[in-house]
Amino acid sequence: MSADELRETVVLKGIGVSPGIVSGKAYVLSRQEIRVPQYVLSNEALVSEEVKRFQKALRDSEKELSDIKEKLKDLEGIGPMFIDIHVMLLRDKMFIQKTVKSIRDRNINAEWALSKAIDGYREIFEKMADEYLRGRIKDVEDVAHRILRNLSGKKHEKISDIDEEVIIIAKDLSPADTAQMSEEKILGFAIDMGGKTSHTAIIAKSIEIPAVVGLESITSEIGTNDTIIVDGISGVVIVNPSPDILKRYENKKKHYLAMEEDLLKDADLPAITKDKFSINIGANIEFIEEIPSAVAHGANGVGLYRTEFIYVNKERLPTEEEHFSNYSRVVKGEGIEWATIRTFDFGGDKFMSDPRMAEEINPAMGLRAIRLCLQEVELFRVQLRAILRASVYGNTGIMFPMISGVEELRDARKIVEEVKEELLSEGVPINNKIDIGIMIEVPSAVMIADSLAREVDFFSIGTNDLIQYALAIDRVNEKVSYLYRPLHPAILKFIKHVVDAGHNAGIKVTMCGEMAGDPLCTMILVGFELDGLSMTPLAIPRIKRIIRGSTLEESKKLLQKVMTFSMASDIEEYVGTYMMQRFPEYLQTNND
Ligand code: PEP
Ligand code: MG
Repeated sequence: MSADELRETVVLKGIGVSPGIVSGKAYVLSRQEIRVPQYVLSNEALVSEEVKRFQKALRDSEKELSDIKEKLKDLEGIGPMFIDIHVMLLRDKMFIQKTVKSIRDRNINAEWALSKAIDGYREIFEKMADEYLRGRIKDVEDVAHRILRNLSGKKHEKISDIDEEVIIIAKDLSPADTAQMSEEKILGFAIDMGGKTSHTAIIAKSIEIPAVVGLESITSEIGTNDTIIVDGISGVVIVNPSPDILKRYENKKKHYLAMEEDLLKDADLPAITKDKFSINIGANIEFIEEIPSAVAHGANGVGLYRTEFIYVNKERLPTEEEHFSNYSRVVKGEGIEWATIRTFDFGGDKFMSDPRMAEEINPAMGLRAIRLCLQEVELFRVQLRAILRASVYGNTGIMFPMISGVEELRDARKIVEEVKEELLSEGVPINNKIDIGIMIEVPSAVMIADSLAREVDFFSIGTNDLIQYALAIDRVNEKVSYLYRPLHPAILKFIKHVVDAGHNAGIKVTMCGEMAGDPLCTMILVGFELDGLSMTPLAIPRIKRIIRGSTLEESKKLLQKVMTFSMASDIEEYVGTYMMQRFPEYLQTNND
């Protein structure tokens, strides 16, 4: 008997966020906080050794930064500003002298002296009136962290350092970590934290690797090199599976892949109900590399391009040319007939290394999305210039995220107009027919949808955030994920209100939150007579088949019926039973 066979099999249930089944070796990503040891040096010799140790850590840190700079040098555009700033800080005489003086005068170790120096800086920065300058403390802390790590001799574990095929196990992963997995040999991941609509989950789907989140205790149940199965369809993770279980899952995987292949066969057929109600189907993308897969899965346009992901894993701000190159590739993409480009939605759970994004206590309700763009106008203008320039290549829409009132919308539109004029005065051609729309994802926007509808060309309902704000549930918190319910009566009423307001004003109303790609909700969404649905590419073939297999009439009846219920659980049960009878083959339950 092998050691593996002697170990107990552990089955854990989490939330399956990216479909597919994978088995392989686990790799536990450990990212401990760097400890700051504190001790007194007993003699003069130790003190001068300590000063040397500190100076070596400074040199090592500078070498790391120049290596990063070297890697980036082939990229076009402005230089890696962030690196230059960090090098400047590393060489700052006051900073070095303060730490060295502390080691010498107080006979304390370098880590302790350094953290005291940083505390002093923190006090100075906190008192600064200018918000931007206050935010620069983040640079000082980043540099200090780098030095502390070099003093400790520990490496920060990076996904890009893993060079074998593994399944990542971690407490949590940022969207930036997940985005890196597309280029690495990562087969899938399973993590303790997270919810169904977190951006880590959304990216896992877009790069098409199986993932389970919200497992709560996976990191304490598994070690690196243990065998593991991750079933992203049912949300089950099995540690140390027996040969029997492994075989069963191999079969399940084969079955799943055959089904996916079958679904692709008619993915390009239009989404029209039997009684001829037609819905436009778009893809949600985070990376331009997803376009071929989106088209193969049956999208004829991009309903949501999450442009903030251009910034993920970048050490510096992208240039207008880089933005333009991305947007024109989307608009010109083969098989893409229209593209809705959403302006930056930084913040919330979306990581950004730029110092302007100071840490906030409550980022989901903080300075994010359109709010940030209206403050960092230059950043916004660069993006708008690039979108407008790309618009000449095809049908393009601009969409603003997180609009909460008419003022924000007008302010944003005003900047678009200014940028248009600027481009025209430079003789740069733009598409005059560009549509301007907004995401409806803040409850206040729902309530004033009639006013907003008069000032835009389209609405797109962002259920991920709308549910988060309407039901007061953090979309990335696994502890409240059971309350995250798209079929809550309040959410259905919100959607109805938005669709009616939009249609009364004669504009199109679509949906691009994860609800749009949930087969359980498809007939309900048809019943609302939404003009379009945009979703992760993998979901498209199933949703199209359900639309083609139903009628508008029966969908409306189903909707009318459940709109009379007052509890989410009753609606879920009714719709679940109904859909299970109508389309059993397309419904994936979490308990398969
Ligand atoms: C949404 O909130 O529903 C949405 C589509 O945007 P994001 O998930 O990027 O916040
Ligand atoms: Mg959103």
